[in-house]
Amino acid sequence: MTAERDARPDLKGLTLQELERFAELLGEPAYRGRQIAHWIYQRGAAAFAEMTDLPQGFRTRLADAARITTLFPVTSVQADGGDTIKYLFRLADGPTLESVFMRYEDGRRSVCISTQVGCGMGCTFCATGLAGLTRNLTSAEIVDQVIRVQHLTGERVSNVVFMGMGEPLANYGPTLRTIHLLNAPYATEIGMRHLTISTVGMVPQIRRLALEHLQLTLAVSLHAPTDELRDQIVPINRQWPIAELLAACREYVALTNRRISFEYVLMEGINDTTALAATLGGLLADPPGLWHVNLIPWNPVYGLQYRRPAVERVEAFARRLRERGISTTVRLERGVEIDAACGQLRRTHGPEFADTRKRANA
Ligand code: SF4
Repeated sequence: MTAERDARPDLKGLTLQELERFAELLGEPAYRGRQIAHWIYQRGAAAFAEMTDLPQGFRTRLADAARITTLFPVTSVQADGGDTIKYLFRLADGPTLESVFMRYEDGRRSVCISTQVGCGMGCTFCATGLAGLTRNLTSAEIVDQVIRVQHLTGERVSNVVFMGMGEPLANYGPTLRTIHLLNAPYATEIGMRHLTISTVGMVPQIRRLALEHLQLTLAVSLHAPTDELRDQIVPINRQWPIAELLAACREYVALTNRRISFEYVLMEGINDTTALAATLGGLLADPPGLWHVNLIPWNPVYGLQYRRPAVERVEAFARRLRERGISTTVRLERGVEIDAACGQLRRTHGPEFADTRKRANA
């Protein structure tokens, strides 16, 4: 039986209250739901048989009535002396997705997770965008990336960034549910301020998220300071141009009191001139001190013709922004030697890309 055709409800992705209710529906006391939550979210159990403090008869009834989605690790590659590990996981219905674990000297343990298989946003410089959208992930499949990584590394994850494959706000419901699960004391208990959602700029969903009044961190992928250029490299800009996006961002800040950071992938000769840096600085000058810019030199993607700018060009761009009073950091992607660009590992190792690789090598 494949999970796609499996009509049994998935207990992974349910809240504590929902699990308690489910236990009661099977004729058990509510506290059994808490035991199940502990096994699923904290112990990483993949089968009811592992839940040894539940009565045998209840475990059998659970296995008949429900399932637990679990990702299957296909491969992993390491970089930065083992401090960066990129995992490729297979879903029950076949496609693969990527998650990246990063260990930092200050003690943080961060995981970058995916919210969709592929992505429909079509950003022209992105390996994930190249393949288009296959499907949305369920909240079970999103949260299990963190649970699997904790299980595989034996380390507790302190931060989660929704910056892997897919546009999180295009899969709004499951993403929000995952945020609450990651934050819940009965699940992974990661502080809300340690959760970061990255969006390419879906204006209505940014407004909707603002109304949730969450203390998470929002990162907006800007990549260009003019509509003319952004229309070309971030096609969603044709639907929600920069002025509309910034208006939604201002509303978001007003409602949540949280600062937004803008991600800007630098590609040589495309969006990395100091003139464009000055334009970007002007765009973000009002109100002063509100915005932060994160510059990310582009990581090579097999099959794409863009180039990563030289360090001097990156520094000149950052300098020009700082001169305009914009708080700016340069983020050097970790694991450059391991297909660091999002979607790359899937293209080089995912079984669903085997034909594409064969054709390319022929
Ligand atoms: S950059 Fe992000 S939003 Fe754009 S295509 Fe890639 S995954 Fe999708």
